[in-house]
Amino acid sequence: MITAETEALDIMVRGRIQGVGFRPFIYRLASAHNLYGWVNNQTSHVRIHIEGDEKNIHSFINDIKAKAPSISVIDELETVASTFEEFKEFSIIQSINSSDDVTEISPDLAVCDDCLKDINSIGRRNHYSFTNCTNCGPRFSIINELPYDRSNTAMSEFQMCRECLEEYESLLNRRFHAQPNSCSYCGPIFTMTTPRGTSTDINSILTECTEIILSGGIAAIKGIGGFHLACNPFNSQAVAELRTVKNRDNRPLAVMFATIKEIREHAIVSDIEEESLKSVRAPIVLLKLRPDSTVFSDVTSGLNTIGCFLPYTPFHHLLLKNLSISAMVLTSANISSEPIEIDNISAIQRFSGLCQAVLGYNRDIQNRTDDSVVRIINGKERVFRRSRGWAPESITVNTDVEGILATGSELKTCFCMGKGNKAVLSQHIGDLKNFETFEFYKSSINRFKNLYRFNPSLIAHDLHPDYLSTRYFDNSPIPKIAIQHHHAHIASCMAENGVSDSVIGFSFDGTGLGDDGYIWGGEILTCNLVEYDRHFHFSYLPLPGGDKAVNEPWRMAVSALYSATGRDFIDMDLPFLKQIPASDVETLLNIIDRKINTPLSSSTGRLFDAVSAMLGLCLYSSFDSEAPMRLEAVLEVTPVIGEYYPFQLGEEISLNPAFRSIAEDIIAGIPATLISAKFHNTIVEIICAASARLRTATGINSAALSGGVFMNGYLLGKAETRLTDMGFRTLTHSKVPPNDGGLALGQLVIAANRKRS
Ligand code: ZN
Ligand code: ZN
Ligand code: FE
Repeated sequence: MITAETEALDIMVRGRIQGVGFRPFIYRLASAHNLYGWVNNQTSHVRIHIEGDEKNIHSFINDIKAKAPSISVIDELETVASTFEEFKEFSIIQSINSSDDVTEISPDLAVCDDCLKDINSIGRRNHYSFTNCTNCGPRFSIINELPYDRSNTAMSEFQMCRECLEEYESLLNRRFHAQPNSCSYCGPIFTMTTPRGTSTDINSILTECTEIILSGGIAAIKGIGGFHLACNPFNSQAVAELRTVKNRDNRPLAVMFATIKEIREHAIVSDIEEESLKSVRAPIVLLKLRPDSTVFSDVTSGLNTIGCFLPYTPFHHLLLKNLSISAMVLTSANISSEPIEIDNISAIQRFSGLCQAVLGYNRDIQNRTDDSVVRIINGKERVFRRSRGWAPESITVNTDVEGILATGSELKTCFCMGKGNKAVLSQHIGDLKNFETFEFYKSSINRFKNLYRFNPSLIAHDLHPDYLSTRYFDNSPIPKIAIQHHHAHIASCMAENGVSDSVIGFSFDGTGLGDDGYIWGGEILTCNLVEYDRHFHFSYLPLPGGDKAVNEPWRMAVSALYSATGRDFIDMDLPFLKQIPASDVETLLNIIDRKINTPLSSSTGRLFDAVSAMLGLCLYSSFDSEAPMRLEAVLEVTPVIGEYYPFQLGEEISLNPAFRSIAEDIIAGIPATLISAKFHNTIVEIICAASARLRTATGINSAALSGGVFMNGYLLGKAETRLTDMGFRTLTHSKVPPNDGGLALGQLVIAANRKRS
């Protein structure tokens, strides 16, 4: 409280305030209000000591909140009376490394317009690829340690030249205390390695890299969070070659366009999508291709969506300006499920034989980040992969989660640490079954522990005992708590929406261990953040061949049809069956009958697989979720219809009637587009029918949608709209992924609430 006699105050500001030009802002504000004292970074907050006229102090405090840099986030501003020390000026003083309670770390930010002007002007930043200021540039990717000072970053080995130091020390400069400040005289530089040798001259690097891409070659280029592979998206042969480098990776590839105008030539861009594309987070945005667009079928793997993004580093801008084409494929440099490459030497060893050039630079990446991926559904930005631009921004939850480490899942792993009421979710890590990715997981946990001075007192892990994220802690003396996978999905959705009272949860995904030992994935629960009841689930279907059934959707089609029709389907005129040798179908029925390597599953993902294969869209999957993605893709071209297939809603939800109808529709020659729409509508109808029944039975009026199946834009969009129309408070994901990338957040809040109760 400010009282009449207050002449000196200590102000503590908490939030995302380090690495965003907050101290320079305070410095300028204090001078503008004629106040003296000091400001510094402490580990957990920015501290201000302010002296002067009471009225001025009052308006100074108001202005902190009103005029803070746009990229900062103030969570808390605390003031206490202090002693008047007769300061004669205001200054920024040495940071203090004082507390275990640490502050937010800023994510990496896309280069700003002012810095772009510098790059295109003459002077020491002309064509300088590491230009940045307090409003832009790398943050998380260069941080070693808190507080965020140059000595604690990968910039520590670069000594600022006289001009850079002047900017750094001059309060009116936009590089005042910009920690990674540098220029072509004093900062990091690119080195290009080709079979002909190495070069460090930026202009010849740009010329040569341009020639390589235009002539159909591939360049490995070090970005903010890791290396990328770049090639010409308009050249099918180059795209095919790039896929070979990535070990025949068939996933859709992201394309970076020079400008939004050039994206619009190929894809449909709404205002909200444009906002996401242009944001400082600069994610890959999944956009719908224009119906007449055919040029990108190689990069999109034949889907009708394309992952687009805009240049976010000075080098991207320079390169795209130099290229005579409007875009380049820019995809993470890794081989299948390995983590993205970050090391200069290893990049040269692995990629110089496969690419025409490797472009590295002499500043280390401290924290690896992939490009983040978002999709706009129902006018809201949904994060599907949360990494560069987001990580490690925390999520405020309404439970004390202090001291809890949630270890995540196995395939799309992220872990999560609890600090007070903040959930700090790691960047996307990936598939732990890959050795290098598991190493990345372990080292990231250690790095976060160190950065945030975090010592876990409770470990929350998945119920599955064989997940590496569970097994890694087997011998740890720290108390542990196992959390059921599908409960964690719903809790994650509740947590990001700030909800802790009971909800009806639709937890639809590919796989997760259930309490009964079966593989779950189509679960309709009522739950709070402590416990859950499982009310409905999809009927268990055999997964003939186990993991093989996941990679070969035709197996699920046969399993579903066998369950729905017995052996009758064998004699039906179903085109997909003609692509499978009759003996293979017999073998499959045999292993289902004899229950050989045929676990049972209530997975929703496998139902989408089955329908996709029945329609002949994807019999063998060449990348994760390919079958459901192809099923959704054909639907996009249909007119809006409301029809759906019959189902039976009991404790077990049987889709046998639906599968029989789908087979009849296929035989009757109904187009796949309509069958896909009707199948999607069936899942929506099940959601509506189940939620109506559970609302009547329990009085709960909130419904949460979570699990990887809800990355399906049509399904999520329609289910959310319908539930809201039915008067439900509908909870969906936007800040964390609905897939296993968001799971750790749910594990964290459940563990915290169980601990309390
Ligand atoms: Zn800038
Ligand atoms: Zn310099
Ligand atoms: Fe899951």
